[in-house]
Amino acid sequence: MKYIGAHVSAAGGVENAPLRAQEIGATAFALFTKNQKQWMSPPLTAESIALFKQRCEELGYPPCSILAHDGYLINLGHPQTEGLERSRESFIDEMARCEVLGLDRLNFHPGSHLKEISEEECLRRIAESINMALDRTHGVTAVLENTAGQGSNMGYRFEHLAAIIAQVEDKSRVGVCIDTCHAFAAGYGFDMMDQLDSTVGIKYLRGMHLNDAKKPAGSRVDRHSPIGQGEIGSALFEQLMKDSRLDGIPFILETPEPDLWPSEIAQLKAWANQK
Ligand SMILES: [Zn+2]
Ligand SMILES: [Zn+2]
Repeated sequence: MKYIGAHVSAAGGVENAPLRAQEIGATAFALFTKNQKQWMSPPLTAESIALFKQRCEELGYPPCSILAHDGYLINLGHPQTEGLERSRESFIDEMARCEVLGLDRLNFHPGSHLKEISEEECLRRIAESINMALDRTHGVTAVLENTAGQGSNMGYRFEHLAAIIAQVEDKSRVGVCIDTCHAFAAGYGFDMMDQLDSTVGIKYLRGMHLNDAKKPAGSRVDRHSPIGQGEIGSALFEQLMKDSRLDGIPFILETPEPDLWPSEIAQLKAWANQK
């Protein structure tokens, strides 16, 4: 069984996300649990939390079908003390928000060295940040997303993800999410899941982002396209849907045309041979 959906809006409250997922025929969804452009947001209200949990239960979204995404400002490998501390504080708040919502995984981009520290030092800081967050929260897995390698972003090589995981103390609460567009832009081809297995290990996979790519292979530019309309093409997505190693995790579209999500989800389900 594969959980298939999209990153839906949580406008008006997180409790609206499961409703929006159901409207597009999704069996999985991703969401921001706060304003993704701010460091901090007001705490979730008791009503919002209760309604979110009730709707997920009623509409059939177990925690393993939901992939929360953290905010855009956070850089857990920040080269400067102030930026690093602010990022860590915000990330711990994001993990805590997942915890109160009953969610078991938070997806984030590893971090950026901003050309001020080495890649190794940046990876070390990211792992240290994860260790701190895991110490202060319970039951939520920190899920590292691979990146396209724009600017000074780390995570464009699966070896980066492996190096971070190697330095995380509680390996039961660290995982990875592979974004197909990012992997393609970083130079990975149709064997990307085999490459992941031989570097990180597929057992760490906690979710996938399904996006076609607007720019050619190896461009290191992160521009998403609807499935089958980009440089990757449909075949990779059909292959992923038929890969039984990838059962039981959320597959999330982050494609740029929400109007197409119902048909994209229907196509993915058909490839997975699911209704
Ligand atoms: Zn992301
Ligand atoms: Zn992504």
